[in-house]
Amino acid sequence: MSYLSALPLILDKTSNMNTRHLVILFLDQLSETLSALSGFDSSRDTVLMIEADDLFCNVPHHRLKIAFQIAAARQFAASLAESGYRVRYSRLEDADNTQIWQHEAVRLCNDITPEKIIVTEPSEWRSHQAVLSLRELCSFPVEMRQDTRFFSTKEGFSSFASSRKVLKMEHFYQRQRKEHGVLMDGNKPIGGKWNYDSDNRRSLPADTIIPPTTRFKADRTTQSIVRLVNQRYPDHPGSDFPFYFAVTRKDALTLLEEFIQTRLACFGDYQDAMAFDQPWLFHSHLSFYLNNGLLLPKEAVSMAEQAYDQSMAPLNAVEGFIRQIMGWREYVRGIYWHKMPSYREENYFNMNRSLPALYWHGNTKMACMAQCVGDTLQHAYAHHIQRLMVLGNFALLTECDPAAVQDWYLAVYADAYEWVELPNVVGMILHADGGYLASKPYVSSGNYINKMSNYCGCCHYQVKEKSGDKACPFNYLYWHFLLTQKDRLSSNPRLVFPYRTLAKMSKEKLDQIKKDSETFLENIDDA
Ligand code: FAD
Ligand code: SF4
Repeated sequence: MSYLSALPLILDKTSNMNTRHLVILFLDQLSETLSALSGFDSSRDTVLMIEADDLFCNVPHHRLKIAFQIAAARQFAASLAESGYRVRYSRLEDADNTQIWQHEAVRLCNDITPEKIIVTEPSEWRSHQAVLSLRELCSFPVEMRQDTRFFSTKEGFSSFASSRKVLKMEHFYQRQRKEHGVLMDGNKPIGGKWNYDSDNRRSLPADTIIPPTTRFKADRTTQSIVRLVNQRYPDHPGSDFPFYFAVTRKDALTLLEEFIQTRLACFGDYQDAMAFDQPWLFHSHLSFYLNNGLLLPKEAVSMAEQAYDQSMAPLNAVEGFIRQIMGWREYVRGIYWHKMPSYREENYFNMNRSLPALYWHGNTKMACMAQCVGDTLQHAYAHHIQRLMVLGNFALLTECDPAAVQDWYLAVYADAYEWVELPNVVGMILHADGGYLASKPYVSSGNYINKMSNYCGCCHYQVKEKSGDKACPFNYLYWHFLLTQKDRLSSNPRLVFPYRTLAKMSKEKLDQIKKDSETFLENIDDA
């Protein structure tokens, strides 16, 4: 049965007949193996899925992201219906949709009157709160099941974190590898080392051929969703860019296999590299699907491990990729749930400047920022080093309010959900948690960007210049940041060298840094 012919079925308003369990799925729970679906009885149970304006408007989410979420969720609902599940689906354009997820859930629960509601724990704080409130707002019992798609549990992470004086991703990652027997030789890591990050810092040679990525042409159904989103959210970023995401599990699996076969081997070497007009490089571009459930982290890790066993990719690449998924991805989720809701309010440096407007349009003389913002707006994607060492670095050096930075990152990336975006912003790029997630702020001068990219060659600013109108702004802003945060950072053992250099600078030089930085910050819209 095609998606279109399944559509009446998923909209069937009589599917509430004699419902035993009502299984509510969120739009990022598109996995048939989801714990909430375990034990589902097609003759007595019903699946409920809800689209609502409030899901897409808490920040101005990128239009490609919204269309991707809706298209994938509707395809998933249709595939469930095709397999015999009874599905009730509340679409954005339905006349009776109340447009607030929680109200919609209450309305439909009261309509369906199940014996029990079942959910898999939602990924984000606000959805979690909304489910908890259902317990009060409806008279039906609510069973919340663990999300078994992750390698670790929230509770396991919390007890790990509570038992440590200093939290380190590396310790958590090693524990994950041991516990799940991934890349292990007995109780030792394969190859003798846990982490091959030091091998993974090459810049991209000019003649490198980057394998093309399959782009899926939006079918008529997806095109109509894109039109709906464009009409409904005209002020959100991301107009007129082509839609090419996979919206079915089958297509997402094709992308996973393609990555393993064509890009994984070079993933490690060029993980930190950046290049003009090359947003994708050797990255996997799988976060969209890992985060909405079309792909499972365990299958991605297992396929990467197999590629190593079959000598299709070297250890530095496979370990690097697996570390991102079993290590960083689960580490940030653990911190999110361990620290919420107060984690959202962290502001260690008391930064309060607004986010520069250039983050929303990309018009700037700084070539690196123009490229990274441009990639982001066009694809609802930028790779990790662009997010971290250009966009994030600049947000911290320009003293942006963490709340504004969080909103931007949550809005613009198609893989952005608060559980993964927030710790990366608060802990990794802004150090707003005072060093809970990462032991030092990821700040750098233009030198790092120049080493890892070809951006600087085409820039209005000169990366070698340290002061004056033509100097690369990252150069003086970097020292200005260390100077202004001296009280908080100078005792950090990982910042001994820069603070030693700072201590040797003449008063004239320090005054110049201050003057250049203040002038820049005052005129940031002209940068
Ligand atoms: P690859 O480079 O191919 O990495 C493989 C996978 O590892 C990714 O798909 C992702 O699932 C995981 N991963 C890698 N690094 C991280 C990390 N730091 N945290 C969590 N998972 C990681 N990732 C998101 O999925 N959603 C976000 O909202 C998000 N926001 C970010 C915000 C900032 C400020 C930063 C610095 C990073 C953020 N990341 C986020 C992490 C990372 O940048 C993206 O996961 C990655 O760029 C996605 O592209 P990819 O699939 O090609 O990743
Ligand atoms: Fe960015 Fe500075 Fe290089 Fe220009 S010179 S691209 S601003 S790092």
